[in-house]
Order: sequence, then C-alpha cells, then structure tokens
Amino acid sequence: MTTWNEPSLDRVDPEIARLIREEELREARTVRLIPSENYASRAVLEASGSCLTNKYSEGYPGKRYYEGQQSVDPIEVLAQDRLKALFGAEHANVQPYSGSPANLAVYLAFCKPGDTVMGLGLPAGGHLTHGWGVSITGMYFKSVAYGVRPDDHRIDMDQVRALAKEHRPKVIWCGGTAYARTWDFPAFRSVADEVGAIMIADIAHIAGLVAGGAHPSPFGIADVVTSTTHKTLRGPRGGMILAKKQHAAAIDKAVFPGLQGGPHNHTTAAIAVAALEASKPEFKQYARAVVDNAKTLADALTERGFRLITGGTDNHLLLVDLTPQGVPGKVAAKALDRAGLSLNYNSIPFDPRKPFDPSGVRLGTPAITSRGMGKTEMLQIADWFARVVQKHDDQATVEAVRREVEAMCVKFPAPGIPVV
Ligand SMILES: *Cc1c(COP(=O)(O)O)cnc(C)c1O
Repeated sequence: MTTWNEPSLDRVDPEIARLIREEELREARTVRLIPSENYASRAVLEASGSCLTNKYSEGYPGKRYYEGQQSVDPIEVLAQDRLKALFGAEHANVQPYSGSPANLAVYLAFCKPGDTVMGLGLPAGGHLTHGWGVSITGMYFKSVAYGVRPDDHRIDMDQVRALAKEHRPKVIWCGGTAYARTWDFPAFRSVADEVGAIMIADIAHIAGLVAGGAHPSPFGIADVVTSTTHKTLRGPRGGMILAKKQHAAAIDKAVFPGLQGGPHNHTTAAIAVAALEASKPEFKQYARAVVDNAKTLADALTERGFRLITGGTDNHLLLVDLTPQGVPGKVAAKALDRAGLSLNYNSIPFDPRKPFDPSGVRLGTPAITSRGMGKTEMLQIADWFARVVQKHDDQATVEAVRREVEAMCVKFPAPGIPVV
C-alpha cells in the first residue's frame, strides 16, 4: 500500500471527525428501522470516498467534453453494463445525482410544462416527485393523483383506469414510499396502453428486492424505470434511469445537458460496486430475508395489538396506525428513537391528523437484515416496540430498552462500519 504524507481528517478537522464517529456509533448501536435506509458495504464506501470526486466528465463514455477519462469511461460503462445485466434492462443512465433528479429528468424527456401527469398521491404513500403540489413536479405540470381504497388501503386500479381515461396523462408513475404491497406492473401497462401514456416505474424503495427476485420486476413492462441506488439496493447515495432502447437518447439528453453538469464519478464507481454485489447469490438471500423479516415483524406487531395499514406487508416496509393506542406517530417515533429504535412518523391513508403530526409510524427491515438479523430479533424488536409505545413517557422503560437494544446490536456488526 502507498503511504499518505498528509494529515488525516482527525487532525485537519477534529470537529467533523468527531461528528462522523458519533454517527458511526449511532448506526452501530441502534436498530435502524427507517425503510429507505441501509448499510453500504466497506467496498461501496471506499469507491465513494475515492479521488474520482476530483474528475470532471460532462458527457457520456466516449463522448466527453473533458480529457483524461481513461479511468472514468470504463468505470461508467461497467456501472451501466452491470445494472443492465442485473435488471434485464436495455439502457442505463447512472448519472442522476439522486432519485429526485432522476425523476425530474424523466419529466424533461417526455413532458412539456403544463402537461398532465399522474401518480400515487403523497397521503396514500406516493412520492413528492410524482406530481405532489409542493414539489416542482406538481407546480410545472397538471397533476392528477390516484389513491388507495378506503376499506383495504390497496391501490384502486379501477380508479387509476378511470382517472387516466378522463385526464389522458402524458406519463403515469407507479411507485411509492409508504406502500407495503406489491405493485401490479402489468395492470399499469394496460392502463398506459389504453390512454397512450408513458409508463414509469419508480422502484427507489424496492430496487434491491427486484434485483434479488423478491418483488415482481417492471422490466420488459414499464417504458422507463427510475430508482435511487442507496435504499434496498445498498449502493451509494445516487440515482439511475433504466429504459427501453427507444427512449435511450431522450433520457440521456434530459440528464445531460438538460438537467445536470458533470456526473459524480465517485458515486458512479460505487454504483458499479453495488451492482456487482447485488449480482451475487448472497444478495438474493438478503432480498428474501428482508421480506421474510418484514412479514415476521408484521405478524408479531399484529399479535401485540397493532393495526397495520393493509393488514401486513409484501415488501420491506410496514405502516402502523397508532390511533388504537392513542399515541400520535411523532410522540411514538421520538420515544422509540430514545430507546434506540430509529424510525419515522408517517401519515396513514385518509389521515385525520396533519402531515407534521400524523397518526402512524413507518418501519422497514433492509438495514437490520443487512446486519444479519432474523426471526428471533424481529420478535424481540416487536416486543421493544410495544413496550416503548405503551410506556412512551416512562424514562425507565425507555432506558431499559435502550440497554437491551445496544446489547443485541453488538452481536450484529454493521456492514461498512468499523467495529468499535
Ligand atoms: C426516495 C425516493 C425518491 C427520491 O430519492 P432522493 O434520492 O431522496 O431524491 C424518489 N422516488 C421514490 C419512490 C422514493 O422512495
């Protein structure tokens, strides 16, 4: 190995070094249940923290506006090729800075300002970028939101079809951030065909499950698939757009020069590493275990008297309505965080409470599954969850759970985090 004749981060900026160290300890010693979070591997982190952050590479491999792409070109081609092979996609663009810019690039490729677009409404579990009012995507386009049924909280395909026929959207998004059930991609395809819309699957949350065969794949069905790379896929913080060949040129032009300047090459390299990791048999086991763990946790919480939206889960996440317990989501989330169970408060469909003080909490199993936790730990987590929600204002309970959480976490080293 080469030596570094330069002072380390500890020496240059002890304040930031200390805060990063504290975050490492927090991630190592808590049960992380935020469904959009995970642990990237050491290999992914190394690529992401490399000198590739120094390089400008506007353009695409073989067609750049800067010289010196001897390493960057093959890195980007590897990232594209690995993702295409992993998902069975015809075209891959790995340059979007994150999930939201990837979605914005898709609008730029297919829509003009004022066009009609359609997506799952935020209160029903959709994402801001699918046309919600506070997002640029709800301001620059005429947005139509479909929802879930009031009785079982599942997506209502009859409503999707009726709204699509009435409003004739240019694009139809399928995907969400708080929807615990399988997406019926063929059903969306048939609606899109009926009204001549572009079908876009946003698999940000479930990309790892799709890659590992634990959720039906939209490839070969959707025109375009967008995703983050850092959620269940376990890569660096980034975005990607995969598409049918006929849309390749429009997508590439929309990302650069339409929306962005130079790609984040350190992220591209880390995406390539994550795609390689996701192609291994162990990743399939991980993806299956994420879903198995979520089902175990859902059953265990139901047995303990909790009300799950849709009655359970098909994927990595659970949405719990705490109305029967009489505890607001935010109060529960804060007490659980103090107890070392990290999750987020969340609106439930048709929530009578406000988004900043909603009725539910959302939890998920990707990060804890990446640590190797299984059935025994899920039952234990359900116990802790019930104890803390019930006694959320009792400091002794919260502290006792916290000690038990830390004792369990020691037994499950977190990928990418040095053992402490
Ligand atoms: C997380 C998410 C995004 C946005 O990703 P960012 O990287 O946070 O911008 C987009 N769509 C869906 C469905 C998501 O879950």
